[in-house]
Amino acid sequence: MDISVVIPLLNEEESLPELEAWIRRVMEANGFSYEILFVDDGSTDTSWQLIENLQKANPSVHGIKFRRNYGKSAALNTAFDKTQGRVVITMDADLQDSPDEIPELYRMIVEEGYDLVSGWKEKRYDPLSKTIPTKIFNWATRKLSGIPNLHDFNCGLKAYKKEVVKSIEVYGEMHRYIPVIAKWSGFNKIEEKSVAHQARKYGESKYMGWNRFINGFLDLMSITFVGKYGRRPMHFFGTFGVIMFVVGFLATVFVGFSKLYRLYSELPTVLVTRNPWFYISLTMMLMGTLLFIAGFLGEMIARQSPTRNWYVVEKEI
Ligand code: UDP
Ligand code: MG
Repeated sequence: MDISVVIPLLNEEESLPELEAWIRRVMEANGFSYEILFVDDGSTDTSWQLIENLQKANPSVHGIKFRRNYGKSAALNTAFDKTQGRVVITMDADLQDSPDEIPELYRMIVEEGYDLVSGWKEKRYDPLSKTIPTKIFNWATRKLSGIPNLHDFNCGLKAYKKEVVKSIEVYGEMHRYIPVIAKWSGFNKIEEKSVAHQARKYGESKYMGWNRFINGFLDLMSITFVGKYGRRPMHFFGTFGVIMFVVGFLATVFVGFSKLYRLYSELPTVLVTRNPWFYISLTMMLMGTLLFIAGFLGEMIARQSPTRNWYVVEKEI
């Protein structure tokens, strides 16, 4: 089989028939053997009935229905286990990504030998509240991930060599950083392709609100930490530990000497300790650091949990 198209969706009933017909048209025009894998991520509208109908009419359509909403990462991860195509294409269900891009993406993987080709919504039709934060994220991700050539890490439209999706694991909200995950797994032939983008035709975006920024930022920290130090955490914590210990030790020596030789009492900085904000900031910074460390440790434990990618599948066709 040439291509598996993976489509995670949550309440996208208006778009599905149009999307399926469009993909079918492109596949038939190019003579590709293909499958379309819809993952219904707990929709409460008629999306699933539509997928069942599409499947009856076109045997290349398959569907997985989650019992509840687990998120886009969960949907992608579950579908990645099942794909059979030589090239796997992911796309959003809302018709913002164009199936017309599929042949070129396929060609880049098969002929140019890329492991992963990410779409780049060079001209993007989304509200500013989405595009501006995304620019900042992409910049930070480029810097931290060592993938300098991607403009748009979180584009829903991507193409993968089969081995990539079979080797990586996506959980939580990490679908934003799949190129980074792929890179850490050793797939570093990563390229991008400028793709057509459309405004959302039906329904509304499922990713709004402020917690998306903070969660996205924390995920970037985790993924960088886990990627770099997941197998050697002592090098991360230990380096900080050594630096802190040395600074603390020198400070103690200094304080001791100042006491003995009365150096310190002359310094005006001593007054700092009379300001209550001194204690507040000290405590807050300490607690902040400790919470971060707790988060990293929790992340590493969560990654070991056997249930990290267990989802209740209600139906599969
Ligand atoms: N989606 C999903 N599970 C979720 C949220 C979204 O499967 O919990 C799907 C959604 O139906 C769409 C894709 O993920 O196919 C991208 O979502 P959306 O278009 O809302 O995001 P945006 O394009 O606004 O960033
Ligand atoms: Mg969208």
